[in-house]
Order: sequence, then structure tokens, then C-alpha cells
Amino acid sequence: MKKNIFKEEFNWLSRHLPEALIQTPGQGNYENVIQSIIQELQNNQEFANDLIEVNRLPIHVPEITRWESNEVSFESLFETLLEMYNSSEGSISMETLSALTEDLGREAFGMYLPMHYYFQSRKNPWGVYLFPEAIFQWAKNLYQVKGKSLGLSLRQVELAFTYAVFRHELFHHQVECFSTKQEVLNHKVNYNAYGDNVNGPCSKSEDWLEEALAEATVLNSKHVYHNTKIKAPIFRKLYEFDLKRMPAGYRDYHCRKFGGPEKAHKLFASQIAQCKINPIPAPATKMCTVSANEFSNSWKKVPIYMVNFKKPKSIKSPREIFNYN
Ligand SMILES: [Zn+2]
Repeated sequence: MKKNIFKEEFNWLSRHLPEALIQTPGQGNYENVIQSIIQELQNNQEFANDLIEVNRLPIHVPEITRWESNEVSFESLFETLLEMYNSSEGSISMETLSALTEDLGREAFGMYLPMHYYFQSRKNPWGVYLFPEAIFQWAKNLYQVKGKSLGLSLRQVELAFTYAVFRHELFHHQVECFSTKQEVLNHKVNYNAYGDNVNGPCSKSEDWLEEALAEATVLNSKHVYHNTKIKAPIFRKLYEFDLKRMPAGYRDYHCRKFGGPEKAHKLFASQIAQCKINPIPAPATKMCTVSANEFSNSWKKVPIYMVNFKKPKSIKSPREIFNYN
């Protein structure tokens, strides 16, 4: 990729990034999510005794250094994306997008910034981020190489792919909620330890259960079905075709090594709770696995952002820039 050509533009954009973000109205904040997790636990007799002492927010000591390093990596991703869009003069080539997908997997089209690191960030607030230019370019290709032969229209493939990316990112939020539930029960912050000891070391391999299970969840998602109205077997064929083009972890959605997604879910839950790749086997109940249910844990609590690179936001006067700074 070309370096430094659009440095000035990038610098401007990075200073004004919130202007490029459009927040979906009516979204809640992270306190609502934490409250609903505590509520869920309080409603469950199994854990009632553990909770007598808990009446404050569990995430009280954010790790600021870690939080900063996450901000930096997120900005460098924006830089790469921006360079990509600019170097191809407005439309992304499939070649560049494939290279990016090889590197980032599904995160080339969207991203989840966790509450634990970004709850205080004004520049990159926590939530699901979607990149429409990348989504639509990829969907166009997916339509040509597979969707058309399945009898789908371009519009249907675009819609399906958009919801698939959203559902994938929503799973990362559900993982964080599950980890937060453990934090409430254990009275300690362990989402970071899970990231350092499990998710990081497993990345880019077939053992990367967070990505594999995110994709397994997309394949069986009622949320995707309700919003796209594409028959489940057709959507499955389309998305499985796409998954074969994804890097390790993502393309291992079948979790064969672990005996299928259901068994993998149980192992994954113990990995999160114990922050170990090889945890002590524990019985997994409904409360003790990541809830991938789209209805009990409302997705409407998650802020959704659209990151639009090609369309600078128009402003009425320089005062808006002045007021922003
Ligand atoms: Zn992911």
C-alpha cells in the first residue's frame, strides 16, 4: 500500500473522525447493558446468594494503558482503510479488499469496540462499527460469484451481507457481556486476561473460537433471517461460500476440531470464565454459556456506527470546526 500520500487528509480526518460517524438514534449506554446483566443474574436463583454484596458497577478500574494502545491500533486500521479508498480513487479494488480480508477477516467490514476499553472514549466510543463501502464492494462480488446462481438479487445479497457483518460483531458484544457476567460473579475484572491469555494467542488459527463461533452464530441467526427474509438454506449456501474465503478461525466455523459448535460453545465459555486456553472442564448450563440469543439480550442496547470514508460531512460554516475543537 502507498504510504504517506494522503497523510494530510488522514490527519484531518482523524482529528474530525466523530464527524464521519453517524450514530443510530435511540441507542442506550453501557450502564444499561451492565444493569441488564445484573438484572439477569438477580432473576436467577442459582446465583442469588453470590449477588447479595453486588450493588455497584463491576467495571470500575479501566486499564488506561491498554485502552490507549487499542485506540492506536484502531486508528491505524482507519489509516489503512482510508489509504485503500483513496489509492483506488473512490472505489475499492477487489484485490485490495481481499488482501485486507486475508489480514483482518470479517473485521475488514465492521468492528466491535468493547465497553471495557472504549466506554470513556469520545473519539471512538464503544459499539458496533460498520464500513459500508467495504460491505457493498464485497457484496457485489459475492453476488456475481455465488448469489446470482442461488437466484438472489444484488440488493438481497447486499442486505444479507450487511446483516451478517452486524450479527458477527454483535456476537463479540455478547462475549463481552458474558465475560462481564463472570466479573460480576467473581468480583474481579477478567475480560483483559481472557484477551491476553486466550483470544490473542489463539488468533489466526483454527483454535480461535471467538471468531469461529461468531460465524457459526451468523449462519444460524434468526436476526439475519427476520431482516433479510432469505430462506435459511439459501443464506447458508451463500455465507458458507464466503466463509471459505476467510482466514483461519473464521473459516473454522464448523468447529470440527472441537466436535461441533455446541461443544465448542461450552469450551469457549470455560475459556472466558477461567482465562485459559485449556480450562478445567465445567458443566455448562444456559447461564454458563455465551448467550447468542438475539431476543433475551436486546441488541438494541448496542450503539451502531456507520463509518463513511467517501462522503465528507458538509458543514454550514467554519464555526462548526471551531466549536468542535
Ligand atoms: Zn470478529
